Parts: sequence; C-alpha cells; structure tokens
Amino acid sequence: MRECDIPTPVYVVDEDKLIENLEILAGVEERTGVKILLAQKAFSCYHFYPLIAKYLAGATASGLFEARLSHEEMGKENHVYCPAYSDDEFDEIVSLCDHIVFNSPAQVKKFARRAKNKSLGLRINPEFSTQKTAIYDPCAFGSRLGTTLENFDEEILPLLEGLHMHTLCEQDADALDKTLKEAEKKFGKYFKSMRWLNLGGGHHITRAGYDIPLLEKNVKGLQDRYGVEVYLEPGEAVALNAGYLYTRVLDIVKNCIYIAILDCSAECHMPDVIEMPYRPPLFGAGNEGEKKYTFRLSSKSCLAGDIIGDYSFDTPLKVGDILRFDDMAIYTMVKNNTFNGMPLPAIAKKKGENFEIIKSFGYSDFKSRL
Ligand SMILES: *Cc1c(COP(=O)(O)O)cnc(C)c1O
Repeated sequence: MRECDIPTPVYVVDEDKLIENLEILAGVEERTGVKILLAQKAFSCYHFYPLIAKYLAGATASGLFEARLSHEEMGKENHVYCPAYSDDEFDEIVSLCDHIVFNSPAQVKKFARRAKNKSLGLRINPEFSTQKTAIYDPCAFGSRLGTTLENFDEEILPLLEGLHMHTLCEQDADALDKTLKEAEKKFGKYFKSMRWLNLGGGHHITRAGYDIPLLEKNVKGLQDRYGVEVYLEPGEAVALNAGYLYTRVLDIVKNCIYIAILDCSAECHMPDVIEMPYRPPLFGAGNEGEKKYTFRLSSKSCLAGDIIGDYSFDTPLKVGDILRFDDMAIYTMVKNNTFNGMPLPAIAKKKGENFEIIKSFGYSDFKSRL
C-alpha cells in the first residue's frame, strides 16, 4: 500500500529505522560485552520481537503480562522488575523469567524461597536526581522506586545475584557517568559480591549526538572493577524515531484562530503529549507563526484540552489532508485507550516505501474491556 492510501488513524512502525537503532545497540553490545534488553513498557509491538531478538539479548518486563509476552514472542533472556509482586502472580512470573528484580528487602524476603533457581536482584535508589521532570524521576523526594542506602538490609545479600538501578529518562551518558559515581559511593561495597548490575533504561543511545564512548567507558569500568556482567534495558532508544502516527483532517473550524479537527486524539493515542506535556514533531510543519498559515491541531474527542499543539504550514490545511506525527512508536500504542469510544489506531509497518497493515481494531476492542 502507498502512503496516500493508508487508512487513518494508524501507527506506522518504520522497520528500516528500527533496524538502524538495533544496529547501533548491537555495536555497543559487541564492543563491550554489555547485554541490552528491550524494556517492553515503551514498545510492546511484538510483531517486531523476532527482528529485535536478532540484535538484543532479550527483554525486560514491568510485571506478569509483559513477561509473558516476551516469553511467548521473543524467547530470549527474560527479566522482570515490579514495584511490588502479588502472591497470586508470583509463581507464574518465576516460570517465565530468568532474572527477577525486587523493589524492597521485604519483597525479597517474602518471595525468594519461591524462586530458588532464578537470578534475584534488588533495585537500589542512589538518591541522585539528574533531571527536573518529577514524574519521570525515580530519585525524587519520597520516591517508592528502589531501596535507599538507609533502607538496605544486609540480611538479604546472600539471596541476591544482582543490583538494579533505573534513574534516567531520555538522557545522555554524562548523566549515567555522574549517577554511577554516586551509586558506587553508596552501594559500591556490595557490587563485588554481585554477578550482575543492571543500569536500567533512559539511555538515549540512538539519539544523534549521544556520547556512546562515554557509555562504553562506564560499562567497561564496572566490568573491570567488580567482575560483573552489565545490563542495559532501554525502551525509548530501541524504537526512537522509528514510528509515526498518521491522521486525517476531518474538519476545520474557526474561533479567533483556525482549528483543525483530526481523526486522532492526544488523550487517547499519544497521552504523553498531555501528561509530560510536550509538542510532538509534525512532518513538514513549523512552529506557531513560523510559516504562513497557523492551525491548532485538535482531536475528535470531547475533551476541551485534547489539543496536540499549534503548527504552521506553507499552504492552508484542508479537509482530507493526511498529517504525519513523528517519533510515535514509543509510549503510544502501549498507552492508548478508548476513552470517548475512540477507535484505536491500526498498526502498520513501513518497509522502503511500502506500507502494510499488521493489525486493525474495531468496536469489539472497545466493548470487550467494559
Ligand atoms: C521505563 C523503564 C525502562 C525503560 O526506560 P526508557 O526511558 O524507555 O529507556 C527501563 N527499566 C525500568 C525499570 C523502567 O521503569
């Protein structure tokens, strides 16, 4: 199918771009021996798991369902971390996962005997913030994520093979470098007795300008100093800029400004636009007022604040135009919802100039969840 024939709304995963990212990550793995896992939280489009499996060591999950998905669809190393496991899901998690990471010493003590032949780890909190967005900062005051040094319980050390930390979000290697210095100051005394260290996600490795040599220096430093296996589990970096959301203009209304109503929704289909908030890149468009015709892009939902942003164009938008939002593979289809009875976008793949729908959704996807 050609681009102009594509039904909208649709998420399109760009396979060529995904492969570019995977090759960058595989290069880091080859040069350092680090093991890289897909964090499924960002991108769980399992159609691509066999492709991802050719490059990465496996996947990590935030809980039972993601763990089951990677077990079924990727079949490589399977890791899980969850802020708290529940009794009724834990045995199934054990049956699916190789590495199980706990959030607190109490959870380790509660569950370790039910996971005897598995590699167990604890998430630590180095209490070192390198970013300002509190909702993405696991080191923010009062964070539940990871055990602080004060709350570390040395009794559990014999049960642990690894330590895990995840404190970054869309960051460069300098933030990792600083964080590791702090983490080693606090928890370094425990690193030597570990088999592995997992440095979490938030490493924007595939972004242009990311300092890959500094990342690799840090990985090698840990391997050399402590004799540990090092893991990274990026989500974003795997599918960064490897997807689009295509949408059509349904109507144009005027209320002091021109407003285009699209067949997609920020609230339902790209919730980070409202949650973070941020203005998603739109192919071929400029900032408000930069080009001749400015439009507010807004959605088909009934939520007044369901606004994507103000964009400008060389020619006025008209009903039926197709627009392409960029960087829409990550944290989109894993987060979408059917609020307002909004249809879920189909999922397609782009290879070269060819578009192929791999999944469509309908009324039953709305009804079956209610
Ligand atoms: C979210 C998360 C990741 C992935 O983070 P990205 O920012 O998508 O790279 C990895 N590990 C843990 C524990 C996470 O919570």
